[in-house]
Amino acid sequence: SSVIHLEHIRKSYFIGKNELPVLKGINLDILKNEYVALMGPSGSGKSTLMNMLGCLDSPTSGKYVLSGHDVSQMEDDALARVRNKEIGFVFQQFNLMPRLSALENVAVPLIYAGINKKDREDKARFMLEKVGLGQRYKHRPNELSGGQCQRVAIARALVNDPSLILADEPTGNLDTKTSIEIMDIFGSIHASGNTVVLVTHEEDIAAHARRVVRLRDGLIESDRLNAEILAEA
Ligand code: ADP
Ligand code: ADP
Repeated sequence: SSVIHLEHIRKSYFIGKNELPVLKGINLDILKNEYVALMGPSGSGKSTLMNMLGCLDSPTSGKYVLSGHDVSQMEDDALARVRNKEIGFVFQQFNLMPRLSALENVAVPLIYAGINKKDREDKARFMLEKVGLGQRYKHRPNELSGGQCQRVAIARALVNDPSLILADEPTGNLDTKTSIEIMDIFGSIHASGNTVVLVTHEEDIAAHARRVVRLRDGLIESDRLNAEILAEA
């Protein structure tokens, strides 16, 4: 079954009376447990598409069905509910709360989900162990390395058991060695059944995914499995 179903998606920004078309008719299906790298030149529409996939913004026209919910025409508060339930976000800048410990950061989405404190802490602790940070749960972000902060962010993205993990340049602020460690974690997330879409401009990072979708000028230019690309090389 499709986690993401996009039909003729168009998205324009309006600057005064001027329409700037950014997504120009995107059709895309991403099935459960796929692992997709989204690539493309700067300005091709990757962020716009990710914002839409993440229910942060709505398309101008077209249909978006996320895990069975038609979210294309939803009002903001309904969209926010779907987002909190279905999506885990990982960002380049980690976006952790500086005053909260690793454990508290991971537990934040569970507050909105209405889970009690004891269960929140147990679940957050379990997720931190899964990403290899079980010993550092009391540390604040400024006491952790970039790679450790990204592990906290990944644990937070997973804690609500979302149907989709969206990652925007998750290794963009990390050195090569740390990037590989983080990509190994995405690999194990995928192996344990999650659906992952990540934006990257680095071919080495995209090579970790199963499928590579390339945007150009608001359209899908290519959509290939890494296995096919390797077979032709
Ligand atoms: P990418 O992530 O591939 O670099 P973006 O989706 O960020 O591409 O941007 C695509 C185009 O849309 C660019 O021309 C950008 O300037 C424009 N754009 C993006 N967001 C906005 C916005 N909120 N308002 C107006 N124009 C925008
Ligand atoms: P990226 O590195 O993802 O391509 P950008 O610099 O294109 O990032 O965009 C960063 C943020 O600024 C995005 O949320 C995008 O929607 C917004 N943005 C980009 N271009 C414009 C614009 N021309 N007007 C307003 N917002 C924009």
